[in-house]
Amino acid sequence: MKLNLGCGADLRPGYVNVDFREHLGVDNVVDLSILPWPFASDFAEEIMMLDFLEHFPYRDTKKILLECWRVLVPDGKIVIQVPDFNVISKALNFEAGCICNRCGYKFTREDNLRADFWRCRTCPQDMRDIMDAAVARLFGGQDYEGNFHYAAFTPTRLQILLRDHGFHEFEHVERNENGETFEQNWNFKLIAKKGSLWDGGQLQEF
Ligand SMILES: [Zn+2]
Repeated sequence: MKLNLGCGADLRPGYVNVDFREHLGVDNVVDLSILPWPFASDFAEEIMMLDFLEHFPYRDTKKILLECWRVLVPDGKIVIQVPDFNVISKALNFEAGCICNRCGYKFTREDNLRADFWRCRTCPQDMRDIMDAAVARLFGGQDYEGNFHYAAFTPTRLQILLRDHGFHEFEHVERNENGETFEQNWNFKLIAKKGSLWDGGQLQEF
């Protein structure tokens, strides 16, 4: 059994596609903000969460990761894709390393010296549109109830969170199915396995 949690319109064959909106034709309509989830323990070989974790209050992130650990079988796989705060920050600052959201061009320090520094070097995208897109990626499109973001992640922070909650054997995925880098899409994707060493220790509240 593989779960595609918060699938939205991204329905995947071979997965049980789960979302809180029933009009999308999902397999299982569940409000995943309510814990525990209605899945048995040691139940799923894989939990995929694409553009999912950032839609929940950050104070719930640890509880959600623990819930994933409970639902996964031993050695089960967790697949997480979230916006990359590091990349978004560069876009919002329009600084070196900023990646054009239209063509994928990566800005260098030399771009600051161009007479037309205010736009992308290789396409007509204006820096204001890149900055607006950065805010939208950070806080969500905000066009319907579920499309607000409440948490921000970097690869480092997410990996530590996963390690602290019983996951190991991390894999950073560099490119998506279309051959584009996740960085180019202002995301990152991390895969890990459910470890057997978690001692059931208490969550540290903050
Ligand atoms: Zn561009």
